[in-house]
Amino acid sequence: MEWMNPTWMLLSAAASFLFLAVVFRPMEMVFPARAGQRFFRPDWWTDLCFFIGQYLLWSGLVVWALYYVNVWVDGFVPSGFRASVAAQPWWLQVIEVVLLSDFLIYWAHRLQHSNQFLWRFHSVHHTAEHLDWLAAHREHPLDSIYTVGIINLPAVVLGFPLETIAALVAFRGIWAIYIHSNVRLPIGPLRVLIGAPELHHWHHAKDRRAGNYANISPLMDVLFGTYTCPDHEPAEFGIEEPSATNYVGHMVEPLLPDRGHSRHVEPATTEAAGGKASLHAG
Ligand SMILES: [Zn+2]
Ligand SMILES: [Zn+2]
Repeated sequence: MEWMNPTWMLLSAAASFLFLAVVFRPMEMVFPARAGQRFFRPDWWTDLCFFIGQYLLWSGLVVWALYYVNVWVDGFVPSGFRASVAAQPWWLQVIEVVLLSDFLIYWAHRLQHSNQFLWRFHSVHHTAEHLDWLAAHREHPLDSIYTVGIINLPAVVLGFPLETIAALVAFRGIWAIYIHSNVRLPIGPLRVLIGAPELHHWHHAKDRRAGNYANISPLMDVLFGTYTCPDHEPAEFGIEEPSATNYVGHMVEPLLPDRGHSRHVEPATTEAAGGKASLHAG
C-alpha cells in the first residue's frame, strides 16, 4: 500500500506537522488560553516523539486493528439492517452515526478514567503538563486502538462506506487537535453545543474525575452530569501519580506489572465506573 512506503510516511508526517503548525500556532498567539506559552515549551520534544511515533509507527497498527474489527463486526450484522439504514436520507444517517459514536465514546472514555487497567494506558495522554496542538498527539498506541475502534463502531455496524469512515476519522482527528490547542475562542454559550478547548483543558486538570469526557459535542456531559466550564484555566495539568519522563518510558510503563503503590487511586464512584469495579483496585 502506498501509505506504508517509508518516504511517503515521512513526507506526510512533515506536511501534517507544517499544516498543523500553520493553522494552530497563529490561533494560539491571537487567542491564547494561557498567555505567554512558548512554542518550545517544556516537554515539547517528548510530544514531538509522540507525533512522529503516531505517524511513522502506530498509524499502520491502528488501521490494521480497525480493519480486523470491521471484518469481525461484519459477521454479526444482518444485511437487511444495513439496507434499511442506507435507505434513509444521508443527513439522518450522519446525525445517527455522530450521536451513537459520541454516546459510546463518552462512556468508554469515562470508563478509562475509573477502570485501573484502562487508566494505565490512558494516563499517558494525561501526563501532558502543557497543552497545545502538539500535546494532542501524546497517546499510547493501545489507547488509540481502543478509542478509534469504539468511535467508529457505529459507522461500521451501520455499514458506512470506508471513505466516509476515513472522513469521520480525519475530522475527529483535527477536532482532537483543536481542543488541546492553547486557544480560547470567544464563542460564548455556543461551547455547550459544539465544544471548545477550554472544556477539554478542564478534562486535563489534575483531578482525574474533573469531567468533560465527550469527544465533539459536550451534549453527553450535559446529559450525564459531567459538564464543567469555569471561566478560567485549571491551575495545573497532568496526573497525580509519578510517570515516565521520556517517550520510550511512556510506551513501556503501562505494559509493566503494577508496582502497587504508584498507580493507586481511590476506586471509582459507582456512576463514574458505569457499574464496573476497577481491575487493580490496590
Ligand atoms: Zn481522558
Ligand atoms: Zn486530551
